[in-house]
Amino acid sequence: MSAADPTNADLHDVILVGGGLASCLALLALAAARPTARVLIVERAHALCGNHTWCFHADDVPPELADVLAPALAHRWPGYEVAFPEHARSLASPYACATSESLAAAVHAAIAAHPSYAARLGTAVEEVGTTYVVLASGERLRARRVVDARGPAHLVTDPAACGYQKFVGLELDLAAPHGLDRPLLMDATVPQQDGFRFVYVLPLAERRVLVEDTYFSDAPDLADAELVAGIHGYVAARGWRAAEVVREERGVLPLPLEMPAAPRALGDGPLVAGYQGGWFHPTTGYSMPLALRLAQFIAHGIEEPDAAERWQLLVDEHRRQLAFALRLNKMLFRWFAPAQRHHVLARFYRAPEDTVRRFYALRTTRADRARILCGRPPRGMSWRAVLTGQRAAG
Ligand SMILES: Cc1cc2nc3c(=O)[nH]c(=O)nc-3n(C[C@H](O)[C@H](O)[C@H](O)COP(=O)(O)OP(=O)(O)OC[C@H]3O[C@@H](n4cnc5c(N)ncnc54)[C@H](O)[C@@H]3O)c2cc1C
Repeated sequence: MSAADPTNADLHDVILVGGGLASCLALLALAAARPTARVLIVERAHALCGNHTWCFHADDVPPELADVLAPALAHRWPGYEVAFPEHARSLASPYACATSESLAAAVHAAIAAHPSYAARLGTAVEEVGTTYVVLASGERLRARRVVDARGPAHLVTDPAACGYQKFVGLELDLAAPHGLDRPLLMDATVPQQDGFRFVYVLPLAERRVLVEDTYFSDAPDLADAELVAGIHGYVAARGWRAAEVVREERGVLPLPLEMPAAPRALGDGPLVAGYQGGWFHPTTGYSMPLALRLAQFIAHGIEEPDAAERWQLLVDEHRRQLAFALRLNKMLFRWFAPAQRHHVLARFYRAPEDTVRRFYALRTTRADRARILCGRPPRGMSWRAVLTGQRAAG
């Protein structure tokens, strides 16, 4: 069977449903690995990539994808800092980010350079099957492989077994240089409210910062105006003056506490990728490392004779890592009252730097897991919650 065969003239090799992080990384990886494949990305909005700043540890990028991702990167820093009431720390792990603009530009450049690659924007998908998609217009498209990556809103979660990471971020132009040379990943010295709260500060240029007020909360409701006011209060307390708000971003990400259903075997339904498919870190909400791992599989592994086994290995390793991260989530959201949650993160950030990095990448070793969990429990743990299985009150 080949696309040159007139009966297959409309057959795509891969259709990527949803033009967000997971699909865009998959497209970049495919363009590099299979430049003549027929690949289509379908996005409901009129632009790719939404409105995001995706940060990650720079060495989360597998060496094979470094060249693929390079054009999509917007910033890179030599390390980052964290601050808690008990201690502060500077970490030397390089940190990087891609923005919606930088990733979308890289994808459009890849499409322009590969005549068999295309994007359909402003096109909602209604139904997703193993080898077809149906658009809201009723048009039916066929593909050898369909990747379904419609984002966090399509993740199925049980609200009773879930916490939430919610945040509002303001990208600000300041009246004077901020003086930071690296991100402040967690400033948890701020008043603790609505669960674990921290402010995240990303220096983007001499006078430009992204300041994000973030909560690990029991409830998904976002008190938008309060968070915006909190950011302005934080900026003022640091002695900065915001000359202009140049962009805003916000999000409410479900953080599961229980193991999700296992992904289907390869070919048994579409490949469900991204946040929707559970390919994210359940404690941090980050999905860049896993989106990269899946992009690598979609570009290199999926057409190999042993693709089903490779897929199962990927799934099994992910679920092994999930089991540990979900234990931590249960601890955070069940064993610690909201006002005590910061102790868990403060203790985590005393772990060796490699352990911290592997935890973010969901590549922990047995020794990492022991380091994170063993020893005296963090302050504020409710033994009553541990023994009864109820959420800690307070
Ligand atoms: C504001 C914000 C900041 C974040 N920051 C980070 C970070 O710093 N680092 C990190 O690793 N993670 C971060 N995350 C978490 C996670 O990485 C993102 O949610 C990530 O974008 C998820 O990728 P995805 O491809 O699964 O979904 P998305 O990137 O959300 O993409 C899904 C796409 O599918 C489209 N879509 C939905 N339904 C349809 C349909 N029916 N038809 C066609 N298209 C459809 C949507 O419009 C969207 O463009 C952040 C999340 C948010 C909300």
